[in-house]
Amino acid sequence: MTVLEGARERRVRTGGVDLCVAELGSPEHPTVMLVHGYPDSKEVWSEVAVRLADRFHVVLYDVRGHGRSTAPRPLRGGFTLEKLTDDFLAVADAVSPGRPVHLVGHDWGSVQSWEFVTVRRTEGRVASFTSISGPSLDHFGHWIGRRVRRPTPRRVGQLLGQGAKSWYVYLLHTPVLPELAWRGPLGKGWPALLRRVEKVPDDGYPTGSLPRDAAHGAWLYRDNVRERLRRPREDAHAHAPVQLVTPLDDAFLSERLSDGLEEWVPRLTRRTLPAGHWVPRTRPDRLADWIAEFVAGVEDGRPEVPARVRHADRFGGRLVLVTGAGSGIGRATALAFAACGARVVAVDRDGDSAARTAELARSAGARGAWAETADVSDEQAMAKLDAKVAADHGVVDILVNNAGIGLSGSFLTTTPEDWRTVLDVNLWGVIHGCRLFGRRMAERDQGGHIVNIASAAAFQPSRALPAYSTSKAAVLMLSECLRAELAGRGIGVSAICPGIVNTAITSTARFTGVDAEEEKRRQRRATRLYGKRNYPPEKVADAILDAVVRDRAVVPVTPEARGAHFASRFLPGALRSLARRNPPL
Ligand code: NAP
Repeated sequence: MTVLEGARERRVRTGGVDLCVAELGSPEHPTVMLVHGYPDSKEVWSEVAVRLADRFHVVLYDVRGHGRSTAPRPLRGGFTLEKLTDDFLAVADAVSPGRPVHLVGHDWGSVQSWEFVTVRRTEGRVASFTSISGPSLDHFGHWIGRRVRRPTPRRVGQLLGQGAKSWYVYLLHTPVLPELAWRGPLGKGWPALLRRVEKVPDDGYPTGSLPRDAAHGAWLYRDNVRERLRRPREDAHAHAPVQLVTPLDDAFLSERLSDGLEEWVPRLTRRTLPAGHWVPRTRPDRLADWIAEFVAGVEDGRPEVPARVRHADRFGGRLVLVTGAGSGIGRATALAFAACGARVVAVDRDGDSAARTAELARSAGARGAWAETADVSDEQAMAKLDAKVAADHGVVDILVNNAGIGLSGSFLTTTPEDWRTVLDVNLWGVIHGCRLFGRRMAERDQGGHIVNIASAAAFQPSRALPAYSTSKAAVLMLSECLRAELAGRGIGVSAICPGIVNTAITSTARFTGVDAEEEKRRQRRATRLYGKRNYPPEKVADAILDAVVRDRAVVPVTPEARGAHFASRFLPGALRSLARRNPPL
């Protein structure tokens, strides 16, 4: 194994063991500490470490009893989380005195790192934590407890699902079986098994210390698992921002384990990856990018969302996708989520305006902001967008189907082509968004929210807006139906119904039955009228964030929209009379 070539090695002595520590990159840079799992040694991180070493001070160490670190004597009681925390602090003090480190843990490396980021004595020593395939035993204990105390068919299914995936944990608790197995066929066949089942590349994975590491590592389980799951700590709250990377095809851990994790982690960034358990070896590029991005964000102070920003605790790190984000309500919404520290994907058919929104979002405080070009009415373009976003950033947590166009003119002057254009964008755009991103949200089964921008025109008939109002009424009903369907999966759906909002929509809206000159005149008039009303898109954005937090079904925004909503329910006749009058435009 040569990939840790160039690494500087040192020994750190702590609590009767001698830890083998390797360093890459300049100690002037922020320290990223990579903690390996079971049955591994620090070399599992080789491919990730070399990718980070040009920007960070990368530190790896063999956990006690593994690789070239010595084992405690006796083994029993030598691997408790308290002792592992002593080791972490000793290494951190040696390699990064006086400056907190960014932890990254995989498998048992993640399990123990959860301890490091949730116990009080490490406060100030951990700058951030990226967790991959290894839950906190305390959170896991509470997760089990809640499902046992309040069982529902769904919760029992989740318990059984994780129970089946934990078969190896029961085996590891048996007295000598694991030791014998690892010294025998399992030890020899392990690299081939990883290659076949996990698609781990065959790059000379070190096997020399494997039987010994695996036998020692069994004590990680025996010393901690039963005890912690039975009596989980009540105060296991993270004192640093956490990035959770969930491989969706992990054979050992259910995605469900991180349900409700926000309760323990105030600043949580979720990422998902279509991969198996050993992502440090199978997806080092993706992992190194995400670690670098997250660490850089923390170093720049980006996850520290100012307390004055409402809902910062709710949206920090969430992946939010907004369509029609290049202007008006879409841009304001993207920026409002950005100010809460969300990660924002700004989509527009105009790539330049989307790029500008992404740039503004970064300055507003987004933990990441990216621009994508797509026409929401184009099914294939949307499918491509969906695949790209999933591959680059994971499953969208909050989807805002906002892109829309205006069309004004009587029914008799509206051509089939006009109908198609407005329905393609205003209705089909929403359908494509909900189908593609909504499906991934549902499959991930960790909740989420879909916001569809309808309009007060959805419940207020008008002789001037038959096509536009029809498209928005359809969006409203689609949202209601989808809300019913997804409720059981913890996914909220909100229909937002703004009234008159001062955006560019008036200058791009089409008017039917008139020549180009008259159309321009009407656009100018509408723009003046909307300008006079002067209701800012930022207020609609506030209403959208509020709708997500409160999981509201239908939200009329602006006083006239609220009035129309009220009248549609209690005074429909009055609205019908109003609909017959010629509009002011
Ligand atoms: P806006 O300022 O014109 O913004 C809409 C954005 O969506 C524009 O950047 C537009 O790009 C983009 N877009 C249009 N068609 C698209 C497509 N097919 N694919 C991708 N992007 C597309 O308008 P807005 O007022 O913010 O409107 C946002 C939403 O609010 C719309 O659904 C609208 O119907 C709804 N709404 C607005 C009002 C209002 O008074 N403003 C009231 C009720 C509801 P282009 O500039 O290239 O067209």
